[in-house]
Amino acid sequence: LIVPSWNPFCNIIKEIFEAVRPLSDGDVATYIPQLARQNPDSWGVSICTVDGQRVNFGDTKNPFCIQSVSKAFNYAIAASDLGADFVHHFVGQEPSGRLFNEICLDSKNRPHNPMVNSGAIIVSSLIQSKMNMADRFDYMLSQYRKISGGEYVGFNNAVFLSERLTADRNYALAYYMKENKCFPPEVTSMTDALDFYFQLCSLEGTCESMSVMAATLANGGVCPLTEERCIESRPCRDVLSLMYSCGMYDYSGQFSFHVGLPAKSGVSGVMIVVVPNLMGICLWSPPLDKLGNSCRGVAFCKELISRFNFHNYDSL
Ligand code: GLU
Repeated sequence: LIVPSWNPFCNIIKEIFEAVRPLSDGDVATYIPQLARQNPDSWGVSICTVDGQRVNFGDTKNPFCIQSVSKAFNYAIAASDLGADFVHHFVGQEPSGRLFNEICLDSKNRPHNPMVNSGAIIVSSLIQSKMNMADRFDYMLSQYRKISGGEYVGFNNAVFLSERLTADRNYALAYYMKENKCFPPEVTSMTDALDFYFQLCSLEGTCESMSVMAATLANGGVCPLTEERCIESRPCRDVLSLMYSCGMYDYSGQFSFHVGLPAKSGVSGVMIVVVPNLMGICLWSPPLDKLGNSCRGVAFCKELISRFNFHNYDSL
């Protein structure tokens, strides 16, 4: 077993879960009604190890939209299908140092990285670009379900419609990128590219299913529940590198400094954290701090690192 003292480990996780619960910092996102209606008291922690041990505390069966956490998996799937070199012809690897939805490109006129909106729109546009929209959506749903070992992955159409209705900035980003010839020539419809991006933000998971998805990343791209390879090994390494440097909005540098683990958060209050070769963690609590990360999620990670030697450089 990868975690030999499983019960003592779970007891400490439970302690941290309970210690973080009373936190009342932060605000639930309000830019769309579906997120504004989320319960600020929702709090779930799920862990899945690379050999399939599971532990769950709190609201781990409640569905939520995965929002920007989709950016990590979309990139990993695109790079597995098309090769990392091809994908990085259109998007960089550098933290932008700017807001996640800022209108800016790098010195080669590419989005800075796949974890900001501009980069994620480009990555979405590359995925199965020869298929029609229905088949592309089905393809991604089946990839997500494979990565989660068949556990819950859904689609929230109300979130999709709201995202599309309030997407002025994403339209602005896409037009700016069109003007600067950021899209590959085979991408002919900018609205299709945006719709696909909104649809992927509107996929749903639970703490339980997302912990398996994170565990697949921890396990080098092979789902620990099914032993099926879902992500090629280089894209798996690459997405973890990008999550480490760019996964937590403008807190990414501080998060890698203090916690030292690859992670990705989303505006619904979800956060996935990967302990490579050990486990995937999903945290969900809707109230966000000023930078857009889940308050309870970040607090949990800091406490986790004070109890266990999971920081990337703890082993030195
Ligand atoms: N749906 C948001 C947008 O594209 C992204 C949400 C997020 O950052 O999690 O503006």
